[in-house]
Amino acid sequence: MTATLEPTVESGTAATFESLNPSNGDLVGVHPIADKVQVDAAVARAREAAGWWGALSFDDRAEYLLTWRSVITRRIAQLAEISHRETGKPHGDAQLEIVMAIDHITWAAKNAKKVLGSHKVPSGLLMANQASTVEYKPLGVVGVIGPWNYPVFTPMGSIAYALAAGNTVVFKPSEYTPGVGQWLADTLTEVLHGYPVLQVVTGLGKTGNALCVADVDKLAFTGSGATGKKVMAACAKNLTPVIIEAGGKDSLIVDEDADLAKAAEAALWGGMSNAGQTCIGTERVYVHEKVFDAFMSEITEQAKGLRAGSDSEAKIGPITMPSQLKIIKSHIDDAIARGAKVVIGGSDAVGERFVQPTILTHVPEDSTEITEETFGPTLAINPVRSMDEAVELTNATRYGLAGAVFSKKNGMDIARRIRSGMTSINSVVAFAAVPALPFGGVGESGFGRIHGPDGLKEFTYAKAITRQKFKPLMMLTSFARDAKTDGNALQMITMMHGGKKTLK
Ligand code: NAD
Repeated sequence: MTATLEPTVESGTAATFESLNPSNGDLVGVHPIADKVQVDAAVARAREAAGWWGALSFDDRAEYLLTWRSVITRRIAQLAEISHRETGKPHGDAQLEIVMAIDHITWAAKNAKKVLGSHKVPSGLLMANQASTVEYKPLGVVGVIGPWNYPVFTPMGSIAYALAAGNTVVFKPSEYTPGVGQWLADTLTEVLHGYPVLQVVTGLGKTGNALCVADVDKLAFTGSGATGKKVMAACAKNLTPVIIEAGGKDSLIVDEDADLAKAAEAALWGGMSNAGQTCIGTERVYVHEKVFDAFMSEITEQAKGLRAGSDSEAKIGPITMPSQLKIIKSHIDDAIARGAKVVIGGSDAVGERFVQPTILTHVPEDSTEITEETFGPTLAINPVRSMDEAVELTNATRYGLAGAVFSKKNGMDIARRIRSGMTSINSVVAFAAVPALPFGGVGESGFGRIHGPDGLKEFTYAKAITRQKFKPLMMLTSFARDAKTDGNALQMITMMHGGKKTLK
C-alpha cells in the first residue's frame, strides 16, 4: 500500500502538519497550523505595518520591492529546489514560474506610481471652475490564499501587486507548498529589516477560513471553485471584498490555415506541462476537420518519448495532490465509455503517483473529460466543421478562464469571440508572462483581476477629489439659487446635450 501523501496532522499535537514530496513520499518539512488566534495576531501586526508601508512614497516602496526581486533572482536555485521538492515538478519548470514572477514584481514596483498616483481628469463645462483629480489608495491589509500548482507565480500575482499598491499582506500558502510561501515571506522580511509587510500563516483549510473572517480589507483567493464559494461565504460575514481566481477548461483552437507543427507543440505543452496541473492549461483542442488527420499525426509524433517520472530525463512530474488521481482516471474512463478513441495513454496511464500523457479524440461533448476540469496530463482533441463551431463548443462551458487560437488569417477575430479572460494567438499562455496584461476569468473561473494596471487597482480604492479654482458662473449647490439660475442651467444643458449630434 502507498503511504498517504495528503498533508497530515501530527498525532497528538494538532499543531503542525507535514509537507511531503509527491514523487516519493519523503518528508520535506513540518509546519505549524496557525489557528484563529495566530491568524488574527498576524493580521494585527500587518495592520500596524500597513501604517508605515502605506505612508512610504511609491518610489521608496519600489526600491524595497526591487531589492527583494534581486534577492529572489540571485537565490532562484534555492527557491526552485523547495518548489521542486514540494510539488514534484521538474527543476526547470520550477525555475520558469519564478522567472515569470520576478518579472511581475518588477513591473508592479515600477508602474504603481504611474497607474495609482494622482491624475488630473477633465471637470467638464458644467464644473469648469473645479480642478479634479483621482488617486488610488491602498486598502490596508490584504489576505492572500494560494494553491500549490504554481506556488510562486500564482500567489505573486496578488502579493506583488497588493504590496506595490501600498498594502501589507498575510499569505496562507497551500498546505502542499508551505515551504515556498515561508521562503518568500522570509526573504522580503530580510530586505525590510524585520518589518512584517508580508507574513505567512501555514495550515490547512481551517487556517484559510480564519484569514477570511479576520480583519482584512480584501481577500485574494486562488484555488478551486468549490473552495472559492466557501471563501466568499466566509468573507460575506464582514462584507470583505474578494477576488476569486478559480479553475478552467481552456481550449486550443486550430484553424485550417494554422501552422500545424507549432499548434501541436503548443497543445502538447499546454496540456501536459506541469503534469496538466495548470489553471490556464489546455484541456480541450478543437481542430478544423480539413487538417484534423495531419494535426493528429503531428501531435502523436511530437508526443513520442514524452513521459512522467521522477528521473532527470522525465519532462513531467507527479500529480502533486494524490486525491486528483482518481478524478483524472474517472474523466479518462468516462470519455472511453462514451466512445472516445485512445491515441496515447488511456486508463492505465494513471499510476499511484504519476499519470502518463494521454491523448483522446472524438470525445463526446457531454463527457466529464470535456465538461469538468481534469487537472492532469490529458488532451481531448475533437474535429470541428468550422471555426464557428470551434467557438461555440469552446464557449459551451461554465468556466471562462483563458485559451489559445492557431490561425494565420483569422486569429484576432476568433480570439475576440471566445468568452474568457485571456487568449493567446499562435502561442499558449503567453498573456500570463506579459505583466501589463490583466489576468483573470469569467463565469465559474472567477472574477477580479491580478497583473497589469487592473491588478494594481484591484488592491486599492479610488479617491476622487475636486478643488474649487474660482467662483462658479452659476451657483447651483446653494439654497440661494433662484429661478434665473435654474433657467440658465436649463439653457446651458440644452445647448450642450439637446441636439441630435451623433458620435461622429
Ligand atoms: P483548493 O481550492 O483545494 O485550495 C486552495 C487554497 O484554499 C489552499 O491554500 C487551501 O488550504 C485553502 N482552503 C481550503 N479550504 C478553505 C476554506 N474553507 N477557506 C479558506 N481557504 C481554504 O485548490 P488547489 O487544489 O490548491 O488548487 C488547484 C485549483 O486552483 C485548480 O482548480 C486550479 O485551476 C486553480 N487555480 C487557479 C488559478 C487562477 O489564476 N485562476 C491559478 C492556479 C490554480
